[in-house]
Amino acid sequence: MYIDCHTHLDFFEENIDKAIEDINKNKILTLANSMDIESYIQNKEYSKMSKFIKPCFGVHPWKAAEYKGSLEELIPYIEESEIIGEIGLDYLWVEDRSTFHIQRKIFNFILEESIKRNKIINLHTKDAEEEIYNALKKFNYNKAIIHWYSGDIETLEKYIKLGCYFTISVDVGYSEKTNEVLRKIPMNKLLLETDGPTALEWVNGEYGYPSEIKRVYESVAEFKNIALNDLINIIENNFKRLFSKDS
Ligand SMILES: [Zn+2]
Repeated sequence: MYIDCHTHLDFFEENIDKAIEDINKNKILTLANSMDIESYIQNKEYSKMSKFIKPCFGVHPWKAAEYKGSLEELIPYIEESEIIGEIGLDYLWVEDRSTFHIQRKIFNFILEESIKRNKIINLHTKDAEEEIYNALKKFNYNKAIIHWYSGDIETLEKYIKLGCYFTISVDVGYSEKTNEVLRKIPMNKLLLETDGPTALEWVNGEYGYPSEIKRVYESVAEFKNIALNDLINIIENNFKRLFSKDS
């Protein structure tokens, strides 16, 4: 079975029916990450249309500054959601530095409440790789998927040592940086993703439907010089192992 470990179904908007049909037809187990509470409620609705969709609750760093509720109001969503995402920090794409402290406040709160509950966490680490590594290291916590890592290799090695998992995304085959990251990630920590329809647009101008994950699998299999079916099994085993982790 194909597994897409990080996508955004609410980004499909008017194309959502076509996207869910694509997921069902290709049996793609899909971690539907959320941007905020509204986005999570939407993803829960979509999950009723497919047994392959797992809605994940999170407040994305791009949305953190807009969040007006109290931190405590987030707890029932954290408790309910089996996987937490997307959460993290972004000091690269978020230009308004005055909002960085709000990002940190929300991120640290959701992270610590998720760790207490032993949740899998889907992490966005743009230009904050070292800070997020330190936040995980403080709790020695590695039940984490580092999504589309693009930081420096030294910090990547620290995440690897901690035992985290990593996704490779749709820029595989297009980006030398991603090749470098893919070379470093241990095979037993590798996961794959599409990051919604707009990620591929950013890479090559094409709109990315969920079955783009097959192209990601094919490119990674070719890069690693292994059979596609072997890669499918490896990823499935990695995913299962992550779910079965006690700590
Ligand atoms: Zn994302």
